[in-house]
Amino acid sequence: MDFEWSDDQRNLYQACAAFARAQLNDDVVGRDRRHDFSRHAWEMCAKFGIQGLPVPAEFGGGDADPVTLAICLEALGYGCKDGGLLFSLGAHLWSAVTPLWRFGTVEQKQRWLPGLCDGSLIGVGAMTEPGTGSDAFAMTTSARLDGDHYVLHGGKTFITNAPVADLFLVFATTAATTTVVGGLGCFVVERGTPGLTIGKPFRKMGLHTSPMSEIFLDNCVVDADQMLGSPGAGMAIFNTSMDWERSFILAPAVGTMQRHFEQAVAYAKDRHQFGQPIGSYQAISHRIVNMRLRLDAARLLLYRAAEAKARGRSTRIESSAAKLFISEALVASSHDLLHIHGAYGYMEESGIERELRDAIASTFYSGTSDIQRNIIASRLGL
Ligand SMILES: Cc1cc2nc3c(=O)[nH]c(=O)nc-3n(C[C@H](O)[C@H](O)[C@H](O)COP(=O)(O)OP(=O)(O)OC[C@H]3O[C@@H](n4cnc5c(N)ncnc54)[C@H](O)[C@@H]3O)c2cc1C
Repeated sequence: MDFEWSDDQRNLYQACAAFARAQLNDDVVGRDRRHDFSRHAWEMCAKFGIQGLPVPAEFGGGDADPVTLAICLEALGYGCKDGGLLFSLGAHLWSAVTPLWRFGTVEQKQRWLPGLCDGSLIGVGAMTEPGTGSDAFAMTTSARLDGDHYVLHGGKTFITNAPVADLFLVFATTAATTTVVGGLGCFVVERGTPGLTIGKPFRKMGLHTSPMSEIFLDNCVVDADQMLGSPGAGMAIFNTSMDWERSFILAPAVGTMQRHFEQAVAYAKDRHQFGQPIGSYQAISHRIVNMRLRLDAARLLLYRAAEAKARGRSTRIESSAAKLFISEALVASSHDLLHIHGAYGYMEESGIERELRDAIASTFYSGTSDIQRNIIASRLGL
């Protein structure tokens, strides 16, 4: 087992981090205050190749293997302080790009992947409904086959990117019964399709720069060739995409925690109270050691999941463990950073309180921490 990165991997990390630091941090505090998604930053990321990282080059992507992918995303989170942008990129990559890349026909990939990779299209997955969060497969949104098209009816909520998205991967029951096993479909619905309405943007606790709203489907008609896979493939599509999502959605968080750790060490050496640097007090130094331990463990879990993906192994435990641990570590790291900075950390201008608000969402999206524990427990036969 080799824990050292090659020179190429180190250079890639440095290049991604330098790009993110230079191009993505413009007025993050102001944009957070205004709940402002930056289309400019989105386009800069696309130009750099982020939105298409795992996609084969023939469809406009970067052909990155899973470990390279993790390195790029970790570096992005190290350089970029806009947690909302990082999350919108993740939602696009894992709930729109990935299902199309893994399950689309050649025609579907040719039709949508180049735009999703070059940033001209923004995508997202729509699974959650007002009555179904963790119990996602209990959904009521339906898709009825009518000749050569499907008629979608229902609604989805908490849909990231919805206010700005061009493509929605909507999950709906295709079976006459509500038993979704073998009766769940996944449909690519384009913005502007009659019957699709986008709700007003939600105001939320954090991730202000990542827009979110409901979507409503009122007899929304899509061609049958806008369904991914077969009529009953929805559950496999969702589970496979979730496996990728849980492995990588928090890769940027590892970079963010590295930045937190470095910031904490620097502040603890610089800030003096009672005639000494606060880092000389064990209450502070031990807190920083805990930040470092969580960072190291988070990084190991991320690359274990990436390595398992690279080997094509089933990664259910690895991906849930990465998602669970990194999300909770990110919350703890943000809180530690706030604590070490005292009142200054509590001020908006420090950017630290925003990082804590942004972090808390990570224990809900892509399946809550409780659900990740349930998944791991069930894999253990419990
Ligand atoms: C920032 C953000 C972005 C999101 N983006 C999207 C998106 O783009 N697309 C999309 O479809 N959805 C999205 N979601 C929704 C997300 O998937 C759901 O929030 C998540 O699945 C949990 O559902 P819920 O919030 O309704 O909580 P509920 O399922 O109602 O759970 C409430 C509480 O009960 C616990 N609980 C529920 N069931 C169990 C159980 N069996 N065992 C133990 N505890 C349990 C939960 O852990 C939680 O603490 C987003 C959510 C957030 C916060």
